[in-house]
Amino acid sequence: MPDRFEILHKDLAGRIGRLSTPHGTIETPELMPVVNPHLQLIPAGELAEMGANMIITNSYIIHQDPALRNEALEKGLHDLLGFQGPIMTDSGAFQLSVYGDIEVQPLQILDFQFRINSDIAVPLDIPTPPDVSRERAESELLVTEGRLEEATDQNRPNLLAGPIQGSTYPDLRERAARHLKDLNFDVFPIGGVVPLMESYRFETLVDVVVSAKKGLGSGAPVHLFGAGHPMLFALAAAMGCDLFDSAAYALYARQGRYLTVHGTRKLEEMNYLPCSCPVCLKHSPQELMKSPDKTKLLARHNLHVSLQEIRLVRQSIRDGTLWNLLECRCRSHPRMLDGLIRLKCESRWLEGLDTSSKSTLFYLSPESAARPEVMRYSRRVDRISLQGNVLITDETNTDSTDFDHVLYFKPPFGAYPAELSETYPFNAEVPLEPDDDAQVAAVEATRHLMEANPGVHFAIRLKKSRWTELVNAECNMR
Ligand SMILES: [Zn+2]
Repeated sequence: MPDRFEILHKDLAGRIGRLSTPHGTIETPELMPVVNPHLQLIPAGELAEMGANMIITNSYIIHQDPALRNEALEKGLHDLLGFQGPIMTDSGAFQLSVYGDIEVQPLQILDFQFRINSDIAVPLDIPTPPDVSRERAESELLVTEGRLEEATDQNRPNLLAGPIQGSTYPDLRERAARHLKDLNFDVFPIGGVVPLMESYRFETLVDVVVSAKKGLGSGAPVHLFGAGHPMLFALAAAMGCDLFDSAAYALYARQGRYLTVHGTRKLEEMNYLPCSCPVCLKHSPQELMKSPDKTKLLARHNLHVSLQEIRLVRQSIRDGTLWNLLECRCRSHPRMLDGLIRLKCESRWLEGLDTSSKSTLFYLSPESAARPEVMRYSRRVDRISLQGNVLITDETNTDSTDFDHVLYFKPPFGAYPAELSETYPFNAEVPLEPDDDAQVAAVEATRHLMEANPGVHFAIRLKKSRWTELVNAECNMR
């Protein structure tokens, strides 16, 4: 099968990609609103007007309703829903996870998805929840893998998704992904993670996603199944997730909940609406509360804010500023910060994927000290070869005539060759007063540089005596 996914731009593990389907090519990262075939809270045709380029629906629900089933088989899925862009279909695995049993055979529901012209069909896998016993995770994974292999044997015109399971066992996720990567799949959903997101366990989510990505390699398009909250998109995209689906816009609306990129608010507790979508411009919170169309209107706002965030994520990848957005979003909630801190532990993996040149680096919070650019310099600092007398300074107009080399000192990088000061990443914008993480990173890198050049005499002239003391202390220890 020709390559359906093309990567155009990269930032961290995230990317702008193009995914080709029978009903058109979409740019990723992309959010697919979930459409309930029984009740379209926002009609599918209007979803396109709101900026949705692709949607997802549940083939099992259509299959189990004789009227819908016949109509879908006659007219096809796109005319049934009134949406002419790409449509992905789920298989009933979610119903299986909730009810424990469903009334359809795996190949039967897969064939049905092909027959109604789904653009991306999903085989009926077993979504193993988090924290189950290893035995259960392994045995369910074995069943899923058998069904997936069976699915790839089928003749098909459309794209096929190969879901990655393995519960909260990173090694199982990685193994499952490695196994699927060589089979004939086009898209790789990471499944069974909704309970992690519902309970705000973002550090475990990072473990699961990064493990799956390591197994898959960087070229495969990944769908984070069930990720619909806009506050999560930057984090998920930074890990290399390309597709998201939102049932959240409708589910939260039914509960009177108002989505923002910083978290969820109860509409009844709001005095102002901090958004300029058509719904929020035309209504006060009180008017929305009283409106007979409250749920529909709230769903529209929720979807607006979600699609807007996806576009911002794309622009950030394009600009090379996804880390900045990631830091802002992850500082909205302590559990999101847990996710970012866990992602920092994977900095070596991120560094391997991240492109090396971008727009000016902004140091925004202690998390910036773990940016791939900082880690990369720290790892390579011992390649800098120096002789004779070397000045380390943070003053650009200092007298350096007696020195063989001049190094500028700037946290979080530490000492670096002065001639690189106008180039990326050393032209970074940093706070006047560096935080502890930036200082520790800077002193550490400077110590490595000194250790790599043992015969050299270093003179340290730093405006802040504190830094001089720190660097001298490290220097004397070597
Ligand atoms: Zn709004």
